[in-house]
Amino acid sequence: MSIRELDEKFVAGTYKRFPVETVSGHGSIAVGADGREYIDMGSGIGVTSFGISDDAWVAAVTRQLSRVQHMSNLYYTEPCAELARRLSERTGMKKVFFGNSGAEANECAIKVARKYAAERHGEDCFTIVTLKNSFHGRTLTTLAATGQDSFHKLFRPLTPGFCHVSAGDIGELYELSKSVAIAGIMIECVQGEGGVVALDADYIRAVAEFAAEIDAVLIVDEVQTGNGRTGELYSYMHFGIKPDVVTTAKGLGGGLPIGAAILGERVADVLGYGDHGSTFGGNPVACAGAISIIDRIDGALLADVRRKGDFIRAELEGAPGVESVSGLGLMLGIKTRRPAAEVVGDCIENGVLCLTAKDKVRLLPALNIPDDVLSRAVSVIKSACAKAD
Ligand SMILES: *Cc1c(COP(=O)(O)O)cnc(C)c1O
Repeated sequence: MSIRELDEKFVAGTYKRFPVETVSGHGSIAVGADGREYIDMGSGIGVTSFGISDDAWVAAVTRQLSRVQHMSNLYYTEPCAELARRLSERTGMKKVFFGNSGAEANECAIKVARKYAAERHGEDCFTIVTLKNSFHGRTLTTLAATGQDSFHKLFRPLTPGFCHVSAGDIGELYELSKSVAIAGIMIECVQGEGGVVALDADYIRAVAEFAAEIDAVLIVDEVQTGNGRTGELYSYMHFGIKPDVVTTAKGLGGGLPIGAAILGERVADVLGYGDHGSTFGGNPVACAGAISIIDRIDGALLADVRRKGDFIRAELEGAPGVESVSGLGLMLGIKTRRPAAEVVGDCIENGVLCLTAKDKVRLLPALNIPDDVLSRAVSVIKSACAKAD
Protein backbone atom coordinates (compact mmCIF):
# COMPACT_ATOMS: atom_id res chain seq x y z
CA MET A 1 0.00 0.00 0.00
CA SER A 2 1.18 3.54 -0.66
CA ILE A 3 1.48 5.95 2.27
CA ARG A 4 -1.64 7.65 1.02
CA GLU A 5 -3.62 4.40 0.96
CA LEU A 6 -2.36 3.40 4.42
CA ASP A 7 -3.28 6.81 5.81
CA GLU A 8 -6.73 6.72 4.28
CA LYS A 9 -7.33 3.23 5.66
CA PHE A 10 -5.99 3.69 9.20
CA VAL A 11 -5.92 7.39 10.15
CA ALA A 12 -9.18 8.96 11.35
CA GLY A 13 -10.61 10.93 8.49
CA THR A 14 -10.58 14.37 10.08
CA TYR A 15 -8.26 16.01 7.55
CA LYS A 16 -8.72 16.60 3.84
CA ARG A 17 -5.10 16.24 2.76
CA PHE A 18 -3.49 17.60 -0.39
CA PRO A 19 -1.76 14.99 -2.57
CA VAL A 20 1.74 15.78 -1.28
CA GLU A 21 3.85 13.43 0.84
CA THR A 22 6.67 15.37 2.45
CA VAL A 23 9.73 13.32 3.32
CA SER A 24 12.34 15.97 4.08
CA GLY A 25 13.25 19.57 3.52
CA HIS A 26 15.28 22.50 4.72
CA GLY A 27 14.14 26.02 5.50
CA SER A 28 11.38 27.05 3.10
CA ILE A 29 11.91 24.10 0.76
CA ALA A 30 9.96 20.88 1.30
CA VAL A 31 10.90 17.74 -0.58
CA GLY A 32 8.20 15.28 -1.67
CA ALA A 33 8.41 11.48 -1.85
CA ASP A 34 8.84 11.80 -5.62
CA GLY A 35 11.93 13.97 -5.07
CA ARG A 36 10.09 17.10 -6.13
CA GLU A 37 10.84 20.37 -4.34
CA TYR A 38 8.12 22.69 -3.11
CA ILE A 39 8.31 26.20 -1.69
CA ASP A 40 6.53 26.01 1.65
CA MET A 41 4.29 29.06 2.09
CA GLY A 42 2.32 27.49 4.97
CA SER A 43 4.99 26.50 7.53
CA GLY A 44 2.82 23.69 8.88
CA ILE A 45 0.15 26.33 9.65
CA GLY A 46 2.55 28.86 11.08
CA VAL A 47 4.47 26.32 13.17
CA THR A 48 7.91 25.98 11.60
CA SER A 49 8.84 29.61 12.29
CA PHE A 50 12.32 29.28 10.81
CA GLY A 51 11.41 26.66 8.26
CA ILE A 52 11.81 22.91 8.02
CA SER A 53 14.53 21.37 10.21
CA ASP A 54 16.49 24.63 10.42
CA ASP A 55 20.00 24.17 11.78
CA ALA A 56 19.79 26.23 14.99
CA TRP A 57 16.52 24.60 16.07
CA VAL A 58 17.75 21.09 15.25
CA ALA A 59 20.92 21.74 17.26
CA ALA A 60 18.98 23.05 20.27
CA VAL A 61 16.52 20.16 20.22
CA THR A 62 19.09 17.40 19.72
CA ARG A 63 21.35 18.84 22.42
CA GLN A 64 18.47 18.63 24.88
CA LEU A 65 17.34 15.22 23.59
CA SER A 66 20.65 13.68 24.50
CA ARG A 67 20.58 15.24 28.00
CA VAL A 68 17.07 14.51 29.28
CA GLN A 69 13.85 14.27 27.25
CA HIS A 70 11.29 14.38 30.07
CA MET A 71 11.17 14.45 33.86
CA SER A 72 7.54 15.40 34.71
CA ASN A 73 6.50 18.55 36.50
CA LEU A 74 7.46 17.06 39.86
CA TYR A 75 11.00 18.31 39.23
CA TYR A 76 12.73 21.41 37.89
CA THR A 77 14.22 21.54 34.39
CA GLU A 78 16.24 24.41 32.97
CA PRO A 79 14.65 24.86 29.49
CA CYS A 80 11.18 25.28 31.01
CA ALA A 81 12.35 27.91 33.51
CA GLU A 82 14.49 29.71 30.91
CA LEU A 83 11.68 29.84 28.35
CA ALA A 84 9.25 31.16 30.97
CA ARG A 85 11.76 33.88 31.89
CA ARG A 86 12.14 34.91 28.25
CA LEU A 87 8.39 35.01 27.58
CA SER A 88 7.80 37.03 30.75
CA GLU A 89 10.61 39.50 30.11
CA ARG A 90 9.79 39.98 26.44
CA THR A 91 6.13 40.73 27.20
CA GLY A 92 6.51 42.52 30.53
CA MET A 93 4.23 39.87 31.99
CA LYS A 94 4.85 37.76 35.07
CA LYS A 95 4.44 33.99 34.80
CA VAL A 96 3.80 31.23 32.28
CA PHE A 97 1.78 28.02 32.30
CA PHE A 98 2.92 25.49 29.69
CA GLY A 99 0.75 22.95 27.88
CA ASN A 100 1.05 21.27 24.50
CA SER A 101 -1.30 23.05 22.11
CA GLY A 102 -3.23 26.18 21.40
CA ALA A 103 -6.43 24.67 22.72
CA GLU A 104 -4.72 23.79 25.98
CA ALA A 105 -3.28 27.29 26.32
CA ASN A 106 -6.77 28.71 25.87
CA GLU A 107 -8.27 26.23 28.36
CA CYS A 108 -5.77 27.53 30.90
CA ALA A 109 -6.66 31.15 30.13
CA ILE A 110 -10.36 30.38 30.56
CA LYS A 111 -9.74 28.68 33.92
CA VAL A 112 -7.66 31.68 35.04
CA ALA A 113 -10.46 34.09 34.06
CA ARG A 114 -13.11 31.95 35.79
CA LYS A 115 -11.15 31.64 39.04
CA TYR A 116 -10.15 35.31 39.08
CA ALA A 117 -13.78 36.33 38.58
CA ALA A 118 -15.13 33.79 41.10
CA GLU A 119 -12.80 35.12 43.79
CA ARG A 120 -13.34 38.79 43.00
CA HIS A 121 -16.96 38.94 41.89
CA GLY A 122 -18.54 35.68 43.07
CA GLU A 123 -19.22 32.36 41.41
CA ASP A 124 -22.07 33.73 39.29
CA CYS A 125 -19.56 35.76 37.32
CA PHE A 126 -18.26 33.19 34.84
CA THR A 127 -19.13 34.20 31.28
CA ILE A 128 -16.33 34.41 28.74
CA VAL A 129 -17.10 36.69 25.80
CA THR A 130 -15.45 35.95 22.47
CA LEU A 131 -16.02 37.25 18.96
CA LYS A 132 -18.14 35.93 16.15
CA ASN A 133 -15.96 34.34 13.46
CA SER A 134 -13.25 33.55 16.03
CA PHE A 135 -11.35 30.28 16.40
CA HIS A 136 -9.99 29.13 19.74
CA GLY A 137 -9.56 25.36 19.43
CA ARG A 138 -11.25 21.96 19.16
CA THR A 139 -11.81 20.79 22.75
CA LEU A 140 -15.41 21.10 23.86
CA THR A 141 -14.62 24.21 25.92
CA THR A 142 -12.52 25.98 23.29
CA LEU A 143 -15.16 25.01 20.71
CA ALA A 144 -17.69 26.78 22.92
CA ALA A 145 -15.33 29.77 22.80
CA THR A 146 -15.08 29.52 19.01
CA GLY A 147 -17.64 31.88 17.49
CA GLN A 148 -18.41 29.86 14.36
CA ASP A 149 -21.49 27.66 14.45
CA SER A 150 -20.20 25.38 11.69
CA PHE A 151 -17.78 23.84 14.23
CA HIS A 152 -20.50 23.27 16.85
CA LYS A 153 -23.21 21.28 15.20
CA LEU A 154 -23.60 17.65 16.38
CA PHE A 155 -21.18 18.22 19.29
CA ARG A 156 -23.63 19.84 21.68
CA PRO A 157 -23.91 20.33 24.57
CA LEU A 158 -20.76 22.45 24.65
CA THR A 159 -19.33 23.93 27.85
CA PRO A 160 -21.77 26.58 29.04
CA GLY A 161 -20.85 30.17 29.89
CA PHE A 162 -19.74 31.57 26.54
CA CYS A 163 -21.20 34.47 24.51
CA HIS A 164 -20.13 35.78 21.12
CA VAL A 165 -20.32 39.40 19.99
CA SER A 166 -19.68 40.97 16.57
CA ALA A 167 -16.11 42.12 16.01
CA GLY A 168 -16.01 45.87 15.43
CA ASP A 169 -19.26 46.62 17.28
CA ILE A 170 -18.22 47.80 20.74
CA GLY A 171 -21.84 48.75 21.54
CA GLU A 172 -22.85 45.09 21.42
CA LEU A 173 -20.29 44.29 24.13
CA TYR A 174 -21.48 47.20 26.32
CA GLU A 175 -25.07 46.03 25.88
CA LEU A 176 -24.25 42.42 26.74
CA SER A 177 -22.52 43.47 29.95
CA LYS A 178 -25.81 44.87 31.24
CA SER A 179 -27.38 41.41 31.38
CA VAL A 180 -24.38 39.09 31.78
CA ALA A 181 -21.61 39.04 34.42
CA ILE A 182 -18.44 38.92 32.31
CA ALA A 183 -15.42 37.07 33.71
CA GLY A 184 -13.21 37.35 30.65
CA ILE A 185 -13.02 38.66 27.09
CA MET A 186 -10.97 36.74 24.54
CA ILE A 187 -9.96 38.08 21.12
CA GLU A 188 -7.60 37.35 18.24
CA CYS A 189 -6.16 40.61 16.85
CA VAL A 190 -6.13 38.91 13.44
CA GLN A 191 -8.74 36.15 13.09
CA GLY A 192 -6.75 33.39 11.41
CA GLU A 193 -9.12 30.50 10.76
CA GLY A 194 -11.89 33.08 10.34
CA GLY A 195 -10.30 34.17 7.05
CA VAL A 196 -7.25 36.25 8.11
CA VAL A 197 -9.40 39.17 9.22
CA ALA A 198 -7.50 41.94 11.04
CA LEU A 199 -9.61 43.64 13.71
CA ASP A 200 -9.91 47.41 13.71
CA ALA A 201 -7.27 49.03 15.95
CA ASP A 202 -9.75 51.34 17.72
CA TYR A 203 -12.02 48.38 18.42
CA ILE A 204 -9.16 46.39 19.97
CA ARG A 205 -8.29 49.33 22.22
CA ALA A 206 -11.93 49.85 23.18
CA VAL A 207 -12.27 46.17 24.16
CA ALA A 208 -9.12 46.41 26.28
CA GLU A 209 -10.36 49.56 28.00
CA PHE A 210 -13.75 48.03 28.68
CA ALA A 211 -12.22 44.83 30.10
CA ALA A 212 -10.21 46.95 32.55
CA GLU A 213 -13.28 49.04 33.42
CA ILE A 214 -15.41 46.01 34.37
CA ASP A 215 -12.45 44.08 35.85
CA ALA A 216 -12.80 41.27 33.28
CA VAL A 217 -9.71 39.28 32.34
CA LEU A 218 -8.50 40.31 28.87
CA ILE A 219 -7.21 37.29 26.97
CA VAL A 220 -5.48 37.72 23.62
CA ASP A 221 -5.28 34.47 21.65
CA GLU A 222 -1.90 34.67 19.92
CA VAL A 223 -1.80 31.00 18.99
CA GLN A 224 -1.46 31.87 15.31
CA THR A 225 -0.52 35.58 15.41
CA GLY A 226 2.25 35.17 17.99
CA ASN A 227 5.99 34.70 17.93
CA GLY A 228 6.85 37.25 15.26
CA ARG A 229 4.22 36.22 12.72
CA THR A 230 2.60 39.66 12.33
CA GLY A 231 5.81 41.71 12.52
CA GLU A 232 5.73 42.21 16.30
CA LEU A 233 6.66 39.53 18.84
CA TYR A 234 2.94 39.33 19.72
CA SER A 235 0.23 40.99 17.66
CA TYR A 236 -1.26 42.91 20.62
CA MET A 237 1.97 44.92 20.64
CA HIS A 238 0.84 46.71 17.47
CA PHE A 239 -2.01 48.28 19.44
CA GLY A 240 -0.46 49.42 22.72
CA ILE A 241 -2.78 47.32 24.88
CA LYS A 242 -1.87 45.28 27.97
CA PRO A 243 -3.60 41.88 28.03
CA ASP A 244 -3.97 39.94 31.28
CA VAL A 245 -3.35 36.63 29.52
CA VAL A 246 -1.59 35.98 26.21
CA THR A 247 -2.01 32.46 24.85
CA THR A 248 0.31 31.10 22.23
CA ALA A 249 1.36 27.82 20.62
CA LYS A 250 1.90 27.06 16.89
CA GLY A 251 5.08 28.99 15.97
CA LEU A 252 6.46 29.05 19.52
CA GLY A 253 7.84 25.51 19.34
CA GLY A 254 9.19 25.72 15.81
CA GLY A 255 7.74 22.27 15.12
CA LEU A 256 7.35 20.49 18.46
CA PRO A 257 4.10 20.61 20.43
CA ILE A 258 3.98 23.40 22.99
CA GLY A 259 1.39 25.85 24.22
CA ALA A 260 1.78 28.68 26.72
CA ALA A 261 -0.53 30.91 28.70
CA ILE A 262 1.49 33.99 29.65
CA LEU A 263 0.01 35.64 32.73
CA GLY A 264 0.13 39.36 33.50
CA GLU A 265 0.35 41.04 36.87
CA ARG A 266 -3.36 40.91 37.76
CA VAL A 267 -3.67 37.15 37.27
CA ALA A 268 -0.12 35.86 37.77
CA ASP A 269 -0.94 34.12 41.05
CA VAL A 270 -4.55 33.11 40.42
CA LEU A 271 -3.61 29.47 39.83
CA GLY A 272 -2.08 27.70 42.81
CA TYR A 273 -0.98 24.16 43.65
CA GLY A 274 -3.33 21.59 42.16
CA ASP A 275 -5.42 24.09 40.19
CA HIS A 276 -4.10 23.02 36.81
CA GLY A 277 -1.50 20.79 35.21
CA SER A 278 -0.33 18.95 32.12
CA THR A 279 1.92 15.88 32.04
CA PHE A 280 3.93 17.05 29.05
CA GLY A 281 3.65 20.77 29.81
CA GLY A 282 7.07 22.45 29.86
CA ASN A 283 8.72 19.42 28.25
CA PRO A 284 12.48 20.17 28.12
CA VAL A 285 12.93 19.24 24.45
CA ALA A 286 9.98 21.35 23.30
CA CYS A 287 11.16 24.24 25.50
CA ALA A 288 14.76 24.03 24.25
CA GLY A 289 13.47 24.31 20.67
CA ALA A 290 11.21 27.22 21.64
CA ILE A 291 14.11 29.10 23.26
CA SER A 292 16.02 28.86 19.97
CA ILE A 293 12.98 30.33 18.19
CA ILE A 294 12.25 33.16 20.65
CA ASP A 295 15.91 34.22 20.86
CA ARG A 296 16.07 34.75 17.10
CA ILE A 297 12.96 36.95 16.97
CA ASP A 298 14.68 40.31 17.45
CA GLY A 299 14.06 43.79 16.09
CA ALA A 300 15.88 43.11 12.81
CA LEU A 301 13.92 39.93 12.15
CA LEU A 302 10.62 41.66 12.94
CA ALA A 303 11.47 44.52 10.55
CA ASP A 304 12.21 41.90 7.91
CA VAL A 305 8.86 40.19 8.52
CA ARG A 306 7.10 43.53 7.97
CA ARG A 307 9.14 44.24 4.82
CA LYS A 308 8.38 40.82 3.34
CA GLY A 309 4.70 41.20 4.19
CA ASP A 310 4.68 44.59 2.42
CA PHE A 311 6.39 43.00 -0.60
CA ILE A 312 3.72 40.27 -0.89
CA ARG A 313 0.96 42.87 -0.56
CA ALA A 314 2.48 45.18 -3.16
CA GLU A 315 2.80 42.27 -5.60
CA LEU A 316 -0.69 40.88 -5.09
CA GLU A 317 -2.91 43.89 -4.39
CA GLY A 318 -4.68 44.78 -7.64
CA ALA A 319 -3.09 41.85 -9.51
CA PRO A 320 -5.34 40.04 -12.02
CA GLY A 321 -7.72 37.65 -10.22
CA VAL A 322 -6.94 39.12 -6.78
CA GLU A 323 -9.87 40.89 -5.13
CA SER A 324 -8.16 41.93 -1.90
CA VAL A 325 -5.35 41.13 0.52
CA SER A 326 -5.89 41.09 4.30
CA GLY A 327 -3.80 40.39 7.38
CA LEU A 328 -0.67 41.67 9.07
CA GLY A 329 3.04 40.96 8.53
CA LEU A 330 3.56 37.44 7.20
CA MET A 331 0.02 36.36 8.05
CA LEU A 332 -1.90 37.16 4.89
CA GLY A 333 -5.20 36.20 3.27
CA ILE A 334 -5.85 36.61 -0.45
CA LYS A 335 -9.41 36.91 -1.64
CA THR A 336 -9.28 35.44 -5.14
CA ARG A 337 -11.75 35.58 -8.00
CA ARG A 338 -11.38 31.82 -8.52
CA PRO A 339 -12.22 29.47 -5.62
CA ALA A 340 -9.27 29.47 -3.18
CA ALA A 341 -8.96 25.65 -3.26
CA GLU A 342 -8.45 25.76 -7.04
CA VAL A 343 -5.75 28.41 -6.74
CA VAL A 344 -4.03 26.31 -4.06
CA GLY A 345 -4.28 23.21 -6.28
CA ASP A 346 -2.64 25.06 -9.19
CA CYS A 347 0.10 26.35 -6.86
CA ILE A 348 0.89 22.78 -5.76
CA GLU A 349 1.18 21.70 -9.38
CA ASN A 350 3.66 24.51 -9.84
CA GLY A 351 5.69 23.69 -6.74
CA VAL A 352 4.27 26.05 -4.10
CA LEU A 353 2.40 24.96 -0.95
CA CYS A 354 -0.24 27.44 0.28
CA LEU A 355 -3.07 27.21 2.81
CA THR A 356 -6.68 28.29 2.74
CA ALA A 357 -8.73 30.07 5.42
CA LYS A 358 -12.46 30.15 4.71
CA ASP A 359 -12.75 31.55 1.16
CA LYS A 360 -9.19 32.90 1.03
CA VAL A 361 -5.75 31.66 0.09
CA ARG A 362 -3.71 31.97 3.28
CA LEU A 363 0.05 32.57 3.40
CA LEU A 364 2.14 31.88 6.51
CA PRO A 365 5.68 31.46 5.19
CA ALA A 366 8.70 30.94 7.43
CA LEU A 367 9.71 34.24 9.07
CA ASN A 368 13.17 33.95 7.49
CA ILE A 369 12.10 32.90 3.99
CA PRO A 370 14.85 34.14 1.64
CA ASP A 371 13.83 37.01 -0.67
CA ASP A 372 14.52 35.11 -3.89
CA VAL A 373 12.50 32.09 -2.74
CA LEU A 374 9.65 34.35 -1.66
CA SER A 375 9.55 36.17 -4.97
CA ARG A 376 9.51 32.86 -6.89
CA ALA A 377 6.57 31.70 -4.77
CA VAL A 378 4.71 34.98 -5.22
CA SER A 379 5.00 34.82 -9.00
CA VAL A 380 3.55 31.27 -8.99
CA ILE A 381 0.67 32.44 -6.75
CA LYS A 382 0.08 35.43 -9.03
CA SER A 383 -0.19 33.25 -12.12
CA ALA A 384 -2.55 30.88 -10.32
CA CYS A 385 -4.79 33.81 -9.30
CA ALA A 386 -4.77 35.22 -12.84
CA LYS A 387 -5.60 31.92 -14.56
CA ALA A 388 -8.88 31.89 -16.46
CA ASP A 389 -11.60 29.58 -15.11
C1 LIG B 1 -4.68 26.92 15.74
C2 LIG B 1 -5.37 27.81 16.69
C3 LIG B 1 -5.85 27.33 17.92
C4 LIG B 1 -5.79 25.88 18.30
O1 LIG B 1 -4.48 25.41 18.42
P1 LIG B 1 -4.20 23.83 18.53
O2 LIG B 1 -2.72 23.77 18.77
O3 LIG B 1 -4.62 23.22 17.24
O4 LIG B 1 -4.99 23.33 19.68
C5 LIG B 1 -6.40 28.24 18.81
N1 LIG B 1 -6.50 29.54 18.50
C6 LIG B 1 -6.06 30.03 17.32
C7 LIG B 1 -6.16 31.50 17.05
C8 LIG B 1 -5.49 29.19 16.37
O5 LIG B 1 -5.08 29.67 15.20
